[in-house]
Amino acid sequence: MLADNLVIGGMVAFSTVDYPQHLATTLFLQGCPWRCHYCHNPHLIPQHSDHDNVTWQKVCQHLEGRRNLLDAVVFSGGEPTTQKALLPALQQTREMGFKNALHTGAPKLSLLKPLLPWLDWVGLDIKAMPTGYEAVTTTRRSGLESWAAIAELQQAGVDFECRMTWHRALHSWEQVVSIGELLSLRGVSKFAVQVARGEQMLNQAIGDGRVCAEDKRLVCEALESSFDVFEMRS
Ligand code: SF4
Repeated sequence: MLADNLVIGGMVAFSTVDYPQHLATTLFLQGCPWRCHYCHNPHLIPQHSDHDNVTWQKVCQHLEGRRNLLDAVVFSGGEPTTQKALLPALQQTREMGFKNALHTGAPKLSLLKPLLPWLDWVGLDIKAMPTGYEAVTTTRRSGLESWAAIAELQQAGVDFECRMTWHRALHSWEQVVSIGELLSLRGVSKFAVQVARGEQMLNQAIGDGRVCAEDKRLVCEALESSFDVFEMRS
């Protein structure tokens, strides 16, 4: 499998928000096995894009000209680990001198493990408690491997943060606290809670995800001291 086979649904040439403290180019890879109610990139779910894809060749041309300007390449999605061409792409960007970051929900450990030696940082999406994923992803037994990815990242020594999307129709503030407490017990040191955005959700019927200020305050109060880095992003 060659990196040329990567199916890229979109690219942000310069991003300061996708890999903390790094200036990166972010690639949005096509394809995802899950169907989260709040997904705000539903056009990335099919394995193939209806639009003109960004080619890997074009990405490399962009990166070549910015070796001294960019720190890293972020592979986001969709669910990037579903593409076999991700591994050769990571190897190529590392050889070019860039750091590699990955955004993943880690649906399958067998897809994540071979990538670990080539990763500098991972943003691991935690959807719910390990047995509660189906209510968010609408996919049976989707949570167990995702939570097991935490130990894999720790053993591999890859820097990572866990992040969750908080939609008020899917999680009460108490449930968000329970998720944070379990992450802390598992030795996670960085946790970010992102409040769901209201526009372009896959399932519009669940309504706008906004959470009231008091609920956010309660979550912050309960979890701030449990992590080295805790952020409420809204
Ligand atoms: S939000 Fe869910 S459905 Fe959408 S890309 Fe992420 S994991 Fe897939």
